[in-house]
Amino acid sequence: MAGKTFGQIVIGRANRACIVQILFTAGQTQGLPLHAIALVFTQYSWGAPVFCGRVPDEMIHEPLDAEVGSPVGRLETDTFCPHCHYNLVSQAVLRDQRLEVLVVRCPECGRFSAAGHGATASRAWLNRLATAFAAAWALFLALLLLLATFFLGMISFGMVMAFARFEATPQMNPAGAPVRYTYHYVPTKPTDYPNAESDLRTQLIVMSSVTFALGFVAGGMVTVLLWHLRGWQRWLAILMPIVGCGVSFMIFTLDPIYESILRWGQPRIAGAFALEMLGVIIGLQLGRPITRGLLRLLVPPKLRQHFVFLWLVDHKRLVIEKIV
Ligand SMILES: [Zn+2]
Repeated sequence: MAGKTFGQIVIGRANRACIVQILFTAGQTQGLPLHAIALVFTQYSWGAPVFCGRVPDEMIHEPLDAEVGSPVGRLETDTFCPHCHYNLVSQAVLRDQRLEVLVVRCPECGRFSAAGHGATASRAWLNRLATAFAAAWALFLALLLLLATFFLGMISFGMVMAFARFEATPQMNPAGAPVRYTYHYVPTKPTDYPNAESDLRTQLIVMSSVTFALGFVAGGMVTVLLWHLRGWQRWLAILMPIVGCGVSFMIFTLDPIYESILRWGQPRIAGAFALEMLGVIIGLQLGRPITRGLLRLLVPPKLRQHFVFLWLVDHKRLVIEKIV
């Protein structure tokens, strides 16, 4: 290792040689006892004191370059030493004899790094592709959350409309023939037709289950796909039923066409909202454990490591069992 640390600072060989030279020169010309400091400094830096004003070349440039391999070219783009951030442009590119890997030696700190690493055109395009993918993913998530909000609103509206029917009431004139019809909604009644009661009950059970399930899926989606949200941020998921049901409640209340079923329908939307909230809250709690269970069942062990974030985020360990 050629770079020496002095506290927080790494000083390369060439610079250390420079410091020694300044110390000696200043000591000689100014008559100061700086050579003592230079001796201690060189002892620490190279493990041997230097007694004259010039640090021997072999101390500055290690004879390692020749051992590594033959130069195959020079770096032609700005590339920075991963250790000391020195610009390596124009440095010789060597082929390591043993590893057959192209390396470049930093003249400042003396350490080797892979030549041309991160400097190819494909790397730049890979980065662009990753950016494009991240943008597409964000867009997909936004769309998904918007759709979930929309469907949560729709189903709360459905909780009313599935149990109401359009009815026409004829307005009679004195002669007995209807002159015009007025149309309005009426709630379906258990007495509408034989078996209507059991139909209504089945319908109510199905609709309630779907409403709850939709809330559950929405909550689970947030906790799995937005796994990085922490603490209260996850609870922003309840905005989906709030906005969805809020809009459907507004439309239902403000549109005069629903006036005849307004008082009957409003509590139903509120009930659907409560079911959705319950679904979202339970989904937030169970979304990740259920997803982990599904991944264990569906994804082979080695591939599962790509989903490790779902374990780590809950401070759990993903154990990849070996298949023997
Ligand atoms: Zn360096």
